[in-house]
Amino acid sequence: MTCAQMGGPCDAKIMGATPEEMMRNGMAHMESAHPDMAANIKAMPKDDPKMVDWNKKFMKDWSMTPESK
Ligand SMILES: [Zn+2]
Repeated sequence: MTCAQMGGPCDAKIMGATPEEMMRNGMAHMESAHPDMAANIKAMPKDDPKMVDWNKKFMKDWSMTPESK
């Protein structure tokens, strides 16, 4: 997946074998490339509607990536 698919502003490739790994690697990329965004995401509670929607979209996008097969 790309940073943009995960809601980020760039097209950097983020690799992961599982959704958990993908999220972890995505977060690591955010922290190094977009620290302001990473801080915003971390400040958001997990049950924030925005995070819930993001998770749904992420799982849907994930299911369509070649890595998930
Ligand atoms: Zn990025």
